[in-house]
Amino acid sequence: MDIKKLEAWYDKNHRKLLFRETKDPYKIWISEIMLQQTQVETVLPFFEKFIHKYPNVKALSLADEEGLKKDVEGLGYYRRFKYLLKAAKYIVDHHDSIFPKSYEEVIKLPGVGKYTAGAIMSIAYHKPYSALDGNVIRVLSRYLNLNDDFRIEKNRKKLDDINQSYIELANPHTYTQAMMELGATICRPKKPKCEICPLNEHCLAYELNIQETLPFLSKLKDKKLFQYITLKIYDHDQHIFLRKRTEDLLEGMYEYPQFDSESIYDVISLLEEKNILIDVIEDMGNYKHIFTHQIWEMHIYEVILITGVDPEWIKVKQDNLMNLPMAVAHRKIK
Ligand code: SF4
Repeated sequence: MDIKKLEAWYDKNHRKLLFRETKDPYKIWISEIMLQQTQVETVLPFFEKFIHKYPNVKALSLADEEGLKKDVEGLGYYRRFKYLLKAAKYIVDHHDSIFPKSYEEVIKLPGVGKYTAGAIMSIAYHKPYSALDGNVIRVLSRYLNLNDDFRIEKNRKKLDDINQSYIELANPHTYTQAMMELGATICRPKKPKCEICPLNEHCLAYELNIQETLPFLSKLKDKKLFQYITLKIYDHDQHIFLRKRTEDLLEGMYEYPQFDSESIYDVISLLEEKNILIDVIEDMGNYKHIFTHQIWEMHIYEVILITGVDPEWIKVKQDNLMNLPMAVAHRKIK
């Protein structure tokens, strides 16, 4: 691979992103966690505010989980921020609040996998550790014309080894970022800009004109559809009732109580069995929210609580609703 050409291209052309202009391992760590499954444009405003509020590991370690989730409401995949907080506390306890410097220590942090550890080590510390993300998979599979299924772990491992062999010949700080940037801006999934790509001279996919057929990724299982009756439950005293999620998806986020059912009458009967009486005030219609692996179809009702309460429900002042971390799937319900 023409690594020198790739690095020169990056030095001259990269976007001046806030988190690419720093070598502070703390900031690089935060940015890499935020960028997991999330677009750069979405992350940027969150990152800026986050670093302002939590400028270092110590400040982050003092955050409370609920407040932290509120700060990142809208980014999705909230479990990563639970781990982020756990990792900050771990660094305070085990590394005297200083971000660890060795790969072995970095990969021990909660929520940090091989990719994130590789990104931190190479970008912050100039150490040759591969960071293979979706962008890098795309660039390498095309450059080398590899049509293995990169959803399969052993094939990713093979590509990771190849990436490792390249980074060992490169300036790790520049190489990792150059590959990510190339994948994001030039070697895009559709219509890659091969004419201006620094790797075009030896790129096999370009030569064969098969760029858009790679990488090969087998189809994910179809999204699962869930149908819910979702209740905005009020009392006569300006309160609304919420539930704090304990499920893996959106754990710790607040939601309106919802029921795995298609009929409000079934829900009313179910609540009556628990000695909870409600009165329906308004049928608010259907809302749909699409996650990566599932779809929620929610039929929303506004109801008044007459008597009883479910132990899982939490009574909240209506004007405090905006201060709580809430799943976007429910926040968008007006
Ligand atoms: S030449 Fe085209 S397909 Fe090959 S790496 Fe560059 S942008 Fe991707």
